[in-house]
Amino acid sequence: MKTVTRSTCCYCGVGCGVLVEAEDGRITGIQGDPEHPANYGRLCTKGRSLPLTVQSVTGRLLRPEVRATRDAKREPADWSSALDLVAERFAQVIERHGPDAVAFYVSGQLLTEDYYVFNKLAKGLVKTNNIDTNSRLCMSSAVTAYKKAFGADGPPTCYEDLELAQTVLFAGSNMAYAHPVLFRRLEEAKAKHPDIRWIVVDPRRTDMAAMADLHLAIQPGTDVALFNGMLHHLIWEGMLDRAYIDAHTEGFDALKALVREYTPRMAAEICGIEERALLQAAEWFGASPAALSLYCMGLNQSSHGTDKNLALINLHLATGQVGRPGAGPFSLTGQPNAMGGREVGGMATMLAAHRDIGNAGHRAEVEALWGVEGLSDRPGLPAVEMFDAVRSGKIKAIWIACTNPVHSMPDIVRVREALATAEFVVVQEAFAQTDTVPYADVLLPAASWGEKSGTVTNSERRISRVQAAVDAPGEAKPDWWIVNEVARRIEAKLSSQTPTLFGFDTPQAVFDEHRRLTAGRDLDIGGLSYAKLETDGPQQWPFAADAVQGQARRYTDGVFATADGRARFHATRYLPVAEPVDARYPFRLVTGRLRDQWHGMSRTGRVGALFAHAPEPALTMHRADATRRGFKDGDLLTIASRRGSLVLPVQISDDVASGTVFAPMHWNGQFLNSGGINETTVPAVDPHSAQPELKHAAVRVQAADLP
Ligand code: SF4
Repeated sequence: MKTVTRSTCCYCGVGCGVLVEAEDGRITGIQGDPEHPANYGRLCTKGRSLPLTVQSVTGRLLRPEVRATRDAKREPADWSSALDLVAERFAQVIERHGPDAVAFYVSGQLLTEDYYVFNKLAKGLVKTNNIDTNSRLCMSSAVTAYKKAFGADGPPTCYEDLELAQTVLFAGSNMAYAHPVLFRRLEEAKAKHPDIRWIVVDPRRTDMAAMADLHLAIQPGTDVALFNGMLHHLIWEGMLDRAYIDAHTEGFDALKALVREYTPRMAAEICGIEERALLQAAEWFGASPAALSLYCMGLNQSSHGTDKNLALINLHLATGQVGRPGAGPFSLTGQPNAMGGREVGGMATMLAAHRDIGNAGHRAEVEALWGVEGLSDRPGLPAVEMFDAVRSGKIKAIWIACTNPVHSMPDIVRVREALATAEFVVVQEAFAQTDTVPYADVLLPAASWGEKSGTVTNSERRISRVQAAVDAPGEAKPDWWIVNEVARRIEAKLSSQTPTLFGFDTPQAVFDEHRRLTAGRDLDIGGLSYAKLETDGPQQWPFAADAVQGQARRYTDGVFATADGRARFHATRYLPVAEPVDARYPFRLVTGRLRDQWHGMSRTGRVGALFAHAPEPALTMHRADATRRGFKDGDLLTIASRRGSLVLPVQISDDVASGTVFAPMHWNGQFLNSGGINETTVPAVDPHSAQPELKHAAVRVQAADLP
């Protein structure tokens, strides 16, 4: 029988709606959902190829597997014994070493319901805040900056602003590749209104930079100097919204005193660009009736990621470009549900519904809603620190779900050492060949896209339903179900009372509990339900119980989520990258995404057609640097940092500056004889957000010494 199921693409944070066609238990096709307000029927190449990622069971995990000892081979097991083993070993570690001796490392690929149950298990039952996520590598600097500037997480903007903006500042975002359907909306808006101005801030001449009215090819990591220099010029020229600053903000005088030293000439010198280009960007931004900034990993994946976000937000607050149609700072989420994970509090630094771990009142609210006592007030360990704690033996058992840290974390040598040292490693995965799977003592087969149900929240705070179109292959199960089953067993072992916390029997039951926790919070979704999302379509939060629709834009009245309702300027100083280049490691390595691959390629690597755009990874190097060293296109080079090395062919190009090289982040041990570019990256993190500096490392490059 043929069926068509309405669902959501599982790749990027655009959150495109899809119609999934299936016949006889097999997904046969996909269409963009013409009614979904993120994409109105459009899909990119990745989205269009989704059926090909689940049509074959080859490479899928079909049964649980366990191993008796570290050196033993994993053997197939039934679900009951695998779940019992996980519960027993976790309960054992907790009883012997305390709750902070276990950790959970989850993923922005999980659905909100999956995330919710994981978070409740860690924080509500185990009483540890050691739950973090690969969203730490993606959005945590944006989250921290929103909270510091506006008092709450979440962008103030919506996708409609893409069509209403008059000036668009892209900062550290290769949106044409990473968020292609949204970029298409911008292209159409500019085609209709050619006077819309695009300013692209990117060390590389990306396709987008080539299309821009102004490309600021700054040195990697110098964004704060650029934004401070722009603000200096706006202050000097009187191009500020003084009434907005006076009525709705705090801290402008301190910022003004700081940016006095960032003359456009000095800022342009730091950035390695022409002063007049900086002045032009400032004037277009300041004079624009609606200036929108779109930013992503280039700002976030930095040891000063929070400062970069704050310096950009300063520009918006100083010009009153917040809370108006077509205006505002708009962080684009990389993953399909990085936002949903934050909503349920699935990170080491937050509690459910944007509550804070360090706030006793917030802990008491969650305790009352969950019916538990003694939530931990000890901050959990964010991703990089978490794996370091595993490596040092402080954390003894770790459960990794739906992510591949032996590829995606910086300095993956340390992650390998950590997982080899751990007493007990659980890996919950849909795919059999990730770099992390070999470390699993217990392997739990998870359902993938098209096979499970729940919700996700996209970059504009819009919640969409995800629905199963077919059954999962073999014995694979939905993630929420797996966690719920283990949590029930751990609760029974740790408590003398009858287990009560994990009575969920459907993802809807999980969603309903999550919804209750949001009541009265900034992301209140009391007015939403599965039924409403299915009948009225995807909705933006907040959507309180008495609301008739979600809120497209936030802070439209100039009242922010801080205690006094005023937004905060932050005087952010430019600081250099964590690992500057030197004579031994003279190249600045920048990492990034390609158009048709996604993260570690667990899915996209299964689709031959997606290799047409880029059949293999390559190191992009400027012609002058290559010529000086005698390299020709395609020569194999060793790229080495202080931490590790890998071999890639060189691609000679004028799209990177001399002294900078670029490598894609996708290819891993499944395709290379190394773990990929993160063999070389630096584990330095932002002091505020704990996000690692995946975008910059000092490397040297030489002809590969091959046998
Ligand atoms: Fe999927 Fe993102 Fe492409 Fe939309 S733009 S189809 S969400 S990958």
